[in-house]
Amino acid sequence: MLEIQNLTKFYGKIAVLQDLFLNIKQGEIYGLLGANGAGKTTTINIICGLLDYDRGSVTINGENLSQKSKYLLGVAPQENLLYPQLSCAENLAFFGKIYGLKGTKLKSAINHSLQSVSLLDRKNSSIETLSGGMQRRVNIAVALVHTPKLLILDEPTTGLDIEARYEIWQLILSLKEQGMTILLTTHLLDEAQKLCDRIGIIKQGKIVAEGTLEKLRELIPAQEIILVQTENEEKAIEKGKEKGFEHRYYGGDLAFLLPEALPLDTLIHYFDETELTSISRQTVNLDHIYLEVTQNNN
Ligand code: ATP
Repeated sequence: MLEIQNLTKFYGKIAVLQDLFLNIKQGEIYGLLGANGAGKTTTINIICGLLDYDRGSVTINGENLSQKSKYLLGVAPQENLLYPQLSCAENLAFFGKIYGLKGTKLKSAINHSLQSVSLLDRKNSSIETLSGGMQRRVNIAVALVHTPKLLILDEPTTGLDIEARYEIWQLILSLKEQGMTILLTTHLLDEAQKLCDRIGIIKQGKIVAEGTLEKLRELIPAQEIILVQTENEEKAIEKGKEKGFEHRYYGGDLAFLLPEALPLDTLIHYFDETELTSISRQTVNLDHIYLEVTQNNN
């Protein structure tokens, strides 16, 4: 559906995208995950034709970017692009007309998009009377009004409370069920873990790891992770090393990567000479993978 090869973009002498590769398949949710400034929005702006690039290629449905591409793409930007005093239907009508929709086609497109985001009953409400979560859903409805093939959601839940975030997650999953291909950017690891079929981790304009969560999990040489609190970290690291446990620091906490899960009493026995205060177990998740690949790929 979307294929990007060797995409490179400079601002002055700084390469903000460096030989970026991305291949998004029909019907999947692909998550582009990265810290602030990693290059996510730049990538999206290039796909949308809003920004030039210096090298590489971008194809959508097998065709190079052109004027026609805009009909294939629906984009919900990070900041809602809505007219607050107009109603949901009026906002959708405005954007639908930009895509050449009119008359009954426009009306049914408006109803269909509002239905997709479960806001048909608020069709005539002005945007300013809606909650933040609802406004974000209208923002997504705008992106859907011309029935695009690829939906791009730039940080779809940033700034929303937990409840509204869950609603948007449900919406994204239901759009996928209806057959939509979705590219979303996020820096929320639980969001990527919950929604995405495949994840690309972007750092300084490069994809440093990509795959399903299962595949990405293989990047951590561990079945299990333990957090160890001890009065003598140096000694604990030494003890861990003897047993073949690599160590890491996660947010300042000492952790060990266990090649296989071990009973708690065995672990306590290993570390008991280190003035141990506590051991807690963690299963390997996207947080660990993210730290592993972003900290080890300089
Ligand atoms: P965020 O999560 O903060 O939106 P991002 O991953 O979307 O981050 P981008 O906005 O793509 O990151 O920015 C990538 C890099 O390009 C950053 O270092 C940013 O400072 C730089 N950059 C973005 N726009 C410009 C510009 N117009 N001129 C110069 N540098 C820019």
